[in-house]
Formats: sequence, C-alpha cells, structure tokens
Amino acid sequence: MKEKLLEICERYEMELLERVPLCEHTSFRIGGTADYWIEVGSKWGLSQLLRLFASEHIPFFVIGKGSNVLAADDGFRGVILHLGPLYQNSTLEEREAAENDPHTICFGAAVPLSRAARTAEEFSLTGMEGLSGIPGSIGGALYMNAGAYGYEMRDIVTACEYMTYDGQVHTADADALGLSYRHSRFMEEPSVILSVTVRLEGGDKAEITAKMQDFLRRRSEKQPLNYPSAGSTFKRPEGSFASKLIDECGLKGLTVGGAQVSEKHAGFVVNRFDATCEDVLMLCRRVREKVRQDTGYVLELEPVLLGNTGWERE
Ligand SMILES: Cc1cc2nc3c(=O)[nH]c(=O)nc-3n(C[C@H](O)[C@H](O)[C@H](O)COP(=O)(O)OP(=O)(O)OC[C@H]3O[C@@H](n4cnc5c(N)ncnc54)[C@H](O)[C@@H]3O)c2cc1C
Repeated sequence: MKEKLLEICERYEMELLERVPLCEHTSFRIGGTADYWIEVGSKWGLSQLLRLFASEHIPFFVIGKGSNVLAADDGFRGVILHLGPLYQNSTLEEREAAENDPHTICFGAAVPLSRAARTAEEFSLTGMEGLSGIPGSIGGALYMNAGAYGYEMRDIVTACEYMTYDGQVHTADADALGLSYRHSRFMEEPSVILSVTVRLEGGDKAEITAKMQDFLRRRSEKQPLNYPSAGSTFKRPEGSFASKLIDECGLKGLTVGGAQVSEKHAGFVVNRFDATCEDVLMLCRRVREKVRQDTGYVLELEPVLLGNTGWERE
C-alpha cells in the first residue's frame, strides 16, 4: 500500500506522513497513531487517492480540525486525509468576486470557522456571528451542520462542492444537503467536501463585532475551555437538553480514569488528565444509563468515532 500512496503523493506533490499520533490532531487530545496521514493539495491527487482506496479496499477518514472526533486508543489502521492550504482560501479575498456579489462568499473547506466569521465581519456581512467560536473548519461544520446561539450552518449555506468516493467532483445546492440538527446528507453518502458557499446579509460592522465578542465571552464563561474536549458530548434529545438532564441526574464531576463530566458545564466530557478513549466511552455509558433510568431520555453521542473504539458493538 505504501508504494502506491507514495507514487500518487509524489506525482501530485502531496505530503505523506507515517505513524501520526491522533492525539496531536484532535481537540480531545486522545487517540493512538494513524498509519498514514496525507495533506491533500490537489483535486487530481485526491481523486486518484479515492480511486485507489476503493479498488484496494483501503480504510480512510477525512479529518477537518478534529474538534468533533474521538479517536481510538489504538489509533487508525488506514489513511487520514486532511485538506491542505489549497483549501484555506475564500473568494472574498479576490476583489473581483466581491464586486460581483458582495454577499456571497465561497470558502475552501479547510478554512477555520473563526476565520470565515472574521472575513464576514471585515466585509460588514452578518449571519456568522454565533458560529465564530466553534473551533472547527467550515467543511467539518457543514458535515455536522454545526450551530450555536440560534445560528446554524443551514441558515447561511447556499451550495457546496464535494468529491464522491469514486473521484468525481459535484456541486449541490443547500436544499440537496439534507441539513437538520447536527446532520447532513454526507453522513449517509460520505464525500470529501471541497468548498462551502454562504450567503450573508449586509450589516453594521460595529454591531457584528460586538455580537461576536459577546458570544465568545459567553463561551468562555460557560464552557470548560481550559480542558481538552470535543464540545458537547451528547446531542440535544427531542424536548430537552443533554446538559440539563445530566446536571439534574447529579452527574457533574463524575469521573472515569482521566475523563470527567465537566463541573462547569454538564454537557461536556473533558480530558482532565491523560484520558483514554476507553475512559471517555465508559463515562459516556454511565451517563447514558443513569439519564435513561432517571428520566427516560436516551442520549446519543455527538462526536464522530474514529478507529476501533468498541462503541458500535453496543
Ligand atoms: C470547545 C468546543 C466547543 C464546540 N462548540 C460547538 C458548538 O457550539 N456547536 C457545534 O455545532 N459544535 C461545536 N463543537 C464541535 C465541533 O467544533 C464542530 O462539530 C465542528 O464543526 C467540527 O469541525 P472540524 O473541522 O473540527 O471537523 P472534525 O472534527 O475534524 O470532523 C467531524 C466530522 O466531519 C467530517 N469532515 C470534516 N471535514 C470534512 C470535509 N472537508 N469533507 C467531508 N467530511 C469532513 C469528518 O469526517 C467527521 O466525520 C465544539 C467543539 C469544541 C472542542
């Protein structure tokens, strides 16, 4: 497998890394090593890789900024694809595009959401303020339909470009993306998201800045940002809030190994000290069981599991 990966990477000038510790690439700071990691820098190269993976049945995983991923302790026996600098541009940086439609921006999928929101702010465009503190890439945010404070990706996305696993590039309008609470069509039909187009409204720059600062302040006041985590550990169940249920069940501070239900915000499991994936999942099982017993609500994990975590066997 390595020779074939090398051949494609050399031909398309992409970096191939071996034995990459996933704990260094996930916000949870958890995970063993991935066999291979490729910095994708070419659509042609990506297309060749996807075809190779399909024909040779090579396992692979597309990672954004790793802020919603829980990786297995024994890592990943396959290839991690990470979109490189080519996917970190936006059309607003090109004057011409801005003059054509000053409310529409096309972002490369690897652009950090915080940077995308700052670009919008710079051009006095409103609609991304509540998303500005979410620590992912815009591609990952579209995959998850990320949202906060009443803002959600589905409210601003108009289209996206993506590559299906047969190496073909497609574009789709927002209506075709199946965006609902923490869900997109890409969860059922996996693809590599290449770019995301958003449409925003013209606004007052000072107001946009003030809102962004307010949301960031609220985050740091309410969330345990001093410990590694993947944000909310459980999805919001229909009719309630995971953090409220967990808090009411008296689970704040519950600890397994190095993983703990945050004392500051019950919706977060944090990596207090050298937590393993196993610690986090054992803690999640306990939380889920207690919440189900006491309230009848069944909580569902929000982070995406990478590698052989054992969770799917339940
Ligand atoms: C402190 C903290 C606070 C958070 N707050 C929020 C919040 O308020 N709201 C919220 O919704 N989320 C929140 N999150 C979770 C996370 O930041 C979001 O889900 C984010 O959108 C994930 O983006 P990412 O680039 O990190 O994706 P990753 O975590 O790398 O990946 C997540 C999923 O997206 C897929 N993916 C990523 N990029 C691509 C791509 N280019 N093509 C195809 N698939 C891709 C991956 O395969 C994976 O399945 C928080 C996380 C942390 C750590």
